[in-house]
Amino acid sequence: MNVPALMATYQLRQREYLLRITRAMTSRLDLPSLLELILSSAAEMVAAPAGMIVLHEPMPSASFEVDGDGMAVESEPQARIRTTYGIPAELLPAFAPLLRPSSRPLPPDSDGASSVQTPGEQYRRDLERRVQDVEENLGRELGQVLGLPLFFEDELLGVIYLFRGGSAFTQLDWEFLEGFALQAAIAVRNARLYAQLSTERSRLAAIIEKSADGVLILRPDRRVEVINQTMEKMLGRVAADVIGQPCSQVLDLQNVTGDDLCGNSPVDIPTHGLRCEGELVRASGGNLAVSVTYTPLFDESERLVNVIANVSDITRFREEEEMKSTFVSIISHELKTPVALIKGYAQTLARPDATWDPETARQSLQIIEEEADRLESLINNLLDVSRIQAGDLRLDISDVDMNRLLERIAQDYRTQTTEHQIEVDLPDDLPLVSGDEERLRQVFTNLLGNAIKYSPDGGLIRIGAWVDRKAGNEDKRPRLVVYVADAGIGIPEDELPKIFDRFYRVDSSLRRGTAGVGLGLFLINAIVEAHKGEIWVRSELNKGTTFSVALPIEDENGPA
Ligand code: ADP
Repeated sequence: MNVPALMATYQLRQREYLLRITRAMTSRLDLPSLLELILSSAAEMVAAPAGMIVLHEPMPSASFEVDGDGMAVESEPQARIRTTYGIPAELLPAFAPLLRPSSRPLPPDSDGASSVQTPGEQYRRDLERRVQDVEENLGRELGQVLGLPLFFEDELLGVIYLFRGGSAFTQLDWEFLEGFALQAAIAVRNARLYAQLSTERSRLAAIIEKSADGVLILRPDRRVEVINQTMEKMLGRVAADVIGQPCSQVLDLQNVTGDDLCGNSPVDIPTHGLRCEGELVRASGGNLAVSVTYTPLFDESERLVNVIANVSDITRFREEEEMKSTFVSIISHELKTPVALIKGYAQTLARPDATWDPETARQSLQIIEEEADRLESLINNLLDVSRIQAGDLRLDISDVDMNRLLERIAQDYRTQTTEHQIEVDLPDDLPLVSGDEERLRQVFTNLLGNAIKYSPDGGLIRIGAWVDRKAGNEDKRPRLVVYVADAGIGIPEDELPKIFDRFYRVDSSLRRGTAGVGLGLFLINAIVEAHKGEIWVRSELNKGTTFSVALPIEDENGPA
């Protein structure tokens, strides 16, 4: 065969090979195995005994590093050797110059000719310099080196390096490899997109799985396709139990307001979102107040693909709502009663057609004064609540003599009750407490007031104190513990954790007959906390209740 005929046969064989390789490459989506295929095929085609592929890592949309001056600068894309052929692993560090970021091969020229065929001067010189550096590192020459850039549009994805010792790459090799590089770049780009998609998919799955809201993904026939952890917990069911079930059997809501896509008489799936609220019936028992948002998802031909149900626990929101309405009803009742009394007595006293004996007038005026006091104390309590909520409860700190303070409070109450015996049992050497005297007065006045109020049959009320030097509290400081114990109606055990809540009152016939708005213990607790103290309660129904308040005191070895 003559030379042109030989050339033609060679070219035909190469073209067939290229076609086969291209098919194999485009069907591979796993990047590492695709790169192996690209490198081994390229090396085989031009009979190169060694080679490597360096890939530039794809850049996140905005990627910054901090330079030496602390300024944010756009970071260079990282280059990494992703696969090698015929190069022992221990020699790889010597190839580091090929990873240098500064120089990049020029993109293909605008006339369509590639930099492989007519490599730009800059690229060639740069490659030469890098190869020299590698040779220096290795301590020997590399011979013929071919750097084949992988371009997708204008983006440089990486470079295929082929090393062929003594024999030079021919023009035919260059031409052939140019076509190969184009196909390889497309395949690399596809594999990367595929990898990005899978990452994105697992990221979304993780977001859904870890969401603090319950999430159900429904198929167009409203059966459950995906359920996240929070939703499993809300329902008290496991995923395996729920997937494939109609959503009406999973998201079972009672007392629904709004549009429920999973209800018994379901609404049509709309093109926009839907919302409803209700009580979720849980498999594990009990109901949970939830709000559900349904969002339909359509594909590009506007076919329904999924409906996402987002389920939020609105228990706290409901509690707040309830609290507000309790607040309004309690406050209006508590305000109305004294105002009505004051007005009634004042009107009676002011009647021009009547004259009152001094005793009746004095009693009426005393009631007016007491009711005005009640109003004042309620208003002060409300002001304190808003201060606490604003984090603005200030203390006017001084050394407080608890002995004197508690004796005085006890004495004040003794004049108001004959049915109760108020005993104060305090050691003489009680240490001073550093605190706000008025606020501490408020604490113990309230506790003693409650002890009287909730012991309707009278009985003994004891106020005592002791120094806790072992300090059961966390910071191990000594503290003064003051207790107020009554022999009254007591508090049911299950109510104990709630009595310090705002507006909370234990429901009992006595409560309904006694004045109060359920703010006293809430305020006491806040005042004690502001003093870095602690309050606790022990109670037995129909036997009595003991409130204890611990306040930090000066350590004999130094200040508290
Ligand atoms: P109020 O007395 O205005 O209702 P508090 O916040 O002082 O509000 O108390 C909350 C609830 O705790 C009271 O309604 C009462 O049911 C209960 N309670 C408080 N102190 C006692 C006590 N010494 N004995 C029995 N129950 C008490």
